[in-house]
Amino acid sequence: MIITCPCEKKQFEIDDKLIPEKGKLLQCGSCDRKWFFKKTIEVKKKIERISTKTKTNKIPKETEDIIIEAEKNNSKVENLKKINLPILNLLLITLISFAALIIFLDTFKIQINNFVPGFEFLLENFYETLKDFYLFTIDLIK
Ligand SMILES: [Zn+2]
Repeated sequence: MIITCPCEKKQFEIDDKLIPEKGKLLQCGSCDRKWFFKKTIEVKKKIERISTKTKTNKIPKETEDIIIEAEKNNSKVENLKKINLPILNLLLITLISFAALIIFLDTFKIQINNFVPGFEFLLENFYETLKDFYLFTIDLIK
């Protein structure tokens, strides 16, 4: 810390650890004046500011790397989400469309059967396959 003599002609660079909390008697080398120096609140604040500055200057490089790494991972996860969501949406839409088509075909199966012989049988067969698949899945879960 820099201490200015009351004569204001001389400034001293003194390690602030050398000045105790209760203060210290100092002598100016220029005018030989002696005065009692005590750390004022302002000086204490200045020292605190400097020490926190040096602290934050020391840490950043490591922290920055960690932050960059975390951001990279975050964007990776977000990218995965971006890729996964459309596929899931597409699958859901396909399933719903398929179910709607089946319901539609089931509703008009008698009319369609008139145009496409054996259609009703085909649909029944499809239901059987679906049922088998459903039972198979339940067995798998159990
Ligand atoms: Zn002086």
